Amino acid sequence: MDHYKLLFSWHMIINSKLPSVGTTIFSVMSKMAEDHQAINLSQGFPDYPVDEKLIANIHQAMKKGFNQYAPMPGLLALRALISEKMEQFYQASYHPETEITITAGGTQAIFTAINAFINAGDEVIIFEPAYDCYAPAIKLVGGLVKPFELQAPDYKIDWEMVKKLFTANTKMIIINSPHNPSGSILHKEDIDALIKLTKDTDILILSDEVYEHIIFDGEKHQSIALYPELAERSLIVASFGKLLHATGWKVGYCLAPAKLMTEFRRIHQFNVFSVNTPMQVGIAEYLKSSSVYNDLSLFFQKKRDLLRALLGETQLELLPCKGSYFQCVSYGHLSNEKDVDFAKSLVTDFGVATIPLSAFYTKGNDDQILRLCFAKEDATLEKAVKKLINLH
Ligand code: PMP
Repeated sequence: MDHYKLLFSWHMIINSKLPSVGTTIFSVMSKMAEDHQAINLSQGFPDYPVDEKLIANIHQAMKKGFNQYAPMPGLLALRALISEKMEQFYQASYHPETEITITAGGTQAIFTAINAFINAGDEVIIFEPAYDCYAPAIKLVGGLVKPFELQAPDYKIDWEMVKKLFTANTKMIIINSPHNPSGSILHKEDIDALIKLTKDTDILILSDEVYEHIIFDGEKHQSIALYPELAERSLIVASFGKLLHATGWKVGYCLAPAKLMTEFRRIHQFNVFSVNTPMQVGIAEYLKSSSVYNDLSLFFQKKRDLLRALLGETQLELLPCKGSYFQCVSYGHLSNEKDVDFAKSLVTDFGVATIPLSAFYTKGNDDQILRLCFAKEDATLEKAVKKLINLH
């Protein structure tokens, strides 16, 4: 019998659901950075510590015995605080009981939202360059990805052209502002155009707002929550990883009107059921007395300005950056190399790891642009750019 099993496993054919997915460039670049002891500005995570007070809150929560399952939609106290924040920032009403769910990071919220609403054959419009989890999640449920390609340097959306992608099967549009990887933001005119385009349709909007509190130069984040006629058929995704400088904790949330949230939770309860309890207790405690929402943009604006000033001394060309913690640069005037090769040579020859933007396109478009993460100590940014001074 055992012999039979062994034979069977040798001949087993695995019908991969994502056959073209290999090791992503994010893992490749981080591994290369490690192997060559390069400064890692590739993956988006801070290299500085989390606030001690927040850590103490979580420690306390564990010591007080908050170590068992949280309620399926999340800790009510945390949902209540999120509801208050939505009221305060966007004058939007999301009921803590029925319209807010705590998730295992933004990624799970996106995955669950797509699972809940996309059926085989449904079409989902995404804007590329796009965060890498959208397309696989759509494909896994048999949905069709309809990418709309944006152009450097400002990655502005031409909404009249987007309309051309609409068919009877268009089910969802995914937007992301502030935008990873480009650092661009959506303005009121964009949301007005989106409202006009989808008026009198049942098209759902999935709004990835994980960088909502990282927006620069006095710009106001255009949350979908500000627009009631769109919010009624939208799901908004947020992440405490970005807000609290703790990407490894993987706690986020989803907001949606009750009717949509009921469907979302049908999937959520079998996907993760509930999220890390002491983290939720500790985060709720911390948010009560923290000014993090108001401080974050300035904190990162200083880092953006520092990185841009430093890069100004190199031959790399800066693209605009209005939000998120990513700065893009172009090098086409220096080299004909493909962006993946150029990024690899920056690690081996200069000791700095970045991400090539072709990684964010279905078709691998290469405009010779690299993404640098500036959620780093000032000293890290200074050291990294010093290494790039002789690049020409
Ligand atoms: N959306 C975007 C645009 C992101 O950049 C990220 C994180 N890199 C996420 C979603 C996922 O957030 P989380 O880490 O909370 O899963």
